[in-house]
Amino acid sequence: MSVLSFRIKSSDGTGVYTVTASRNSGFVKISCDCPAGTFGTHCRHRFELVSGETKYCINPSRNDLAELAAMVDLTPLRGVMEEIVALGREADHIKRRLAALKKTAARIMATGE
Ligand SMILES: [Zn+2]
Repeated sequence: MSVLSFRIKSSDGTGVYTVTASRNSGFVKISCDCPAGTFGTHCRHRFELVSGETKYCINPSRNDLAELAAMVDLTPLRGVMEEIVALGREADHIKRRLAALKKTAARIMATGE
């Protein structure tokens, strides 16, 4: 069994959570001791770390990050994470387009053209 631990700053910067990745018999589990992670729901600490975002990670070891990436590459999680990132970008694009169209609609309503 292989276990990696990462210390991640909380969103408000006042707390620190521990994200733990463990591989056992080909299965990889990634947990976080924050409130959301404790309930097994989505938490940004695990999500960002697995996505390669390390700005909130305290003194990350390059070797541990590389090992985490290698662990995830062997699981269906890699494809799911890639799809989440792609859909997030698409959602951002749609939000920007929607905001621009709302401005255009407001202008047309106000000016008639
Ligand atoms: Zn968390």
